[in-house]
Amino acid sequence: FSLPETLNEPMRNFEPGSSDRANLIAALNEFKAQAPIEIPILVNGEKIHTGKIQEQRIPSDHQTILAKAYEADSSIVKKAIEGALAVKSTWEAYPFNERSTIFLKAADLAAGKYRFKLLAATMLGQGKNTWQAEIDSAAELIDFWRFNNKYAHEIYQQQPSKNAPGVWNRVEYRPLEGFVYAITPFNFTAIAGNLPSAPALMGNVVLWKPSPSSLLSNWVIMEILREAGLPDGVIQFIPGPAEEITDVILKSPDFASLHFTGSTFVFKHLWKTIGNNIDTYKSYPRIVGETGGKNFHMVHKSADVPNVVNQTIRSAFEYQGQKCSACSRAYIPDTLWDEFRELLLQQHSKINVGSPEDFSNFMGAVIHEASFEKIKGYIDWAAKDADSEIIAGGTYDKSKGYFVQPTIIVTKNPKSRTMVEEIFGPVLTIYVYKADEYEKVLDLVNETSSYALTGSIFAQSRSAIMLAGSKLRHASGNFYINDKSTGAIVGQQPFGGSRSSGTNDKGGSATLLYRFTSMRTIKENF
Ligand code: GLU
Repeated sequence: FSLPETLNEPMRNFEPGSSDRANLIAALNEFKAQAPIEIPILVNGEKIHTGKIQEQRIPSDHQTILAKAYEADSSIVKKAIEGALAVKSTWEAYPFNERSTIFLKAADLAAGKYRFKLLAATMLGQGKNTWQAEIDSAAELIDFWRFNNKYAHEIYQQQPSKNAPGVWNRVEYRPLEGFVYAITPFNFTAIAGNLPSAPALMGNVVLWKPSPSSLLSNWVIMEILREAGLPDGVIQFIPGPAEEITDVILKSPDFASLHFTGSTFVFKHLWKTIGNNIDTYKSYPRIVGETGGKNFHMVHKSADVPNVVNQTIRSAFEYQGQKCSACSRAYIPDTLWDEFRELLLQQHSKINVGSPEDFSNFMGAVIHEASFEKIKGYIDWAAKDADSEIIAGGTYDKSKGYFVQPTIIVTKNPKSRTMVEEIFGPVLTIYVYKADEYEKVLDLVNETSSYALTGSIFAQSRSAIMLAGSKLRHASGNFYINDKSTGAIVGQQPFGGSRSSGTNDKGGSATLLYRFTSMRTIKENF
């Protein structure tokens, strides 16, 4: 069979007076009128309400509780594992086109009936402005659901090319034996949706622990999947305390895979725990993770300065810098510095920070108090550091929401803390280098960070681009030429990195889906 043509979901611009804008405002108001919204645990299709709750607050107005989710405990997690395993053989036996239909239908529901609800949940709960929410909970989520079908379809068609006379060789792409555990981040509704959905599409059953900071949008995803026809028990939605849930899951002999996006620290900890429990499991678990980043914009003296400034402002400050891919260290040649600095400060002065419900705000608040305090710590450190100068921003205020002004630091030390450590907030550090030391600085860019997620080279000179391409070969999993380090589009730029940034299995690609299959080779004699 052939699938419907796979296209990227077109984005909308929400112009003043448009029906899109009116619909979005209505969805925002509806959620606010209902807040706090109750979110259940969903196990075997049954909504469970326990005695313990997790609260999701609005980052730009932290006195408002947006949602209250009931928390799963050990006994519920055990029930979820049993329930998932009980439906496993039925789900595995679904022909691929039947599984596929469910996710294509989910994509259509997200593009239509649920579009504004998803946007409003992402804006209010995760603090994205309208366009940042649109590229995430509308475009990227829908694209994952559609493109994964295309990639899975291509995988299933790959068969051995040779059969000897009287022999038929074939391979079967089985789901993993056991269940998949998906731990999802707050910063992308699309990633939260993809982490449980991708393994489920390949015939797996999944336990999904959503982030406490994106409960509402994640619950809307669950509602969509159910309405699209996902059978009960295939994805079990279990908000709750990470350690308690994880402890039960990683002790189960049926634990078959971890699908994770989050911090490097947590991922390494989980990996070690899995290693320690290895004798418990039936198979070697597939460990798939996307973790941190310390992404660079490397600028050559031949670069087009207005373009570098635009892309750097966008990459460093869109969504308050809370993208794993955000640019947080930039290298500018001294010959371009004056022009760059002037334009950068000009653009910086136009950035409005405030509630995402106000369409004129480019930035909102950071996600929660812990994050605010961490970012503030880096800014305070830079204010005192002899090698660092804060040339813009540098202030913060958490009285109403967790607001941090977009902050630009210039450092004389290319290995200073803010050039090396992941901050996950709106803080950009710049190192100005001698233009004729380009090659040496490429080595510096490569050596400075233990991460390797994204990075960009800005240059008009082809030889400078080529040199960067080769010297920075392992410095990022996504390499951009004259473009910002953020904004990978499903179906166009498969996304992921290596070193401390993850297993580089590339979200939005067949590579990722392979990880959730276990091939069986079949040879039959006639
Ligand atoms: N895929 C996103 C991008 O290209 C980043 C994902 C993340 O933050 O984990 O900007």
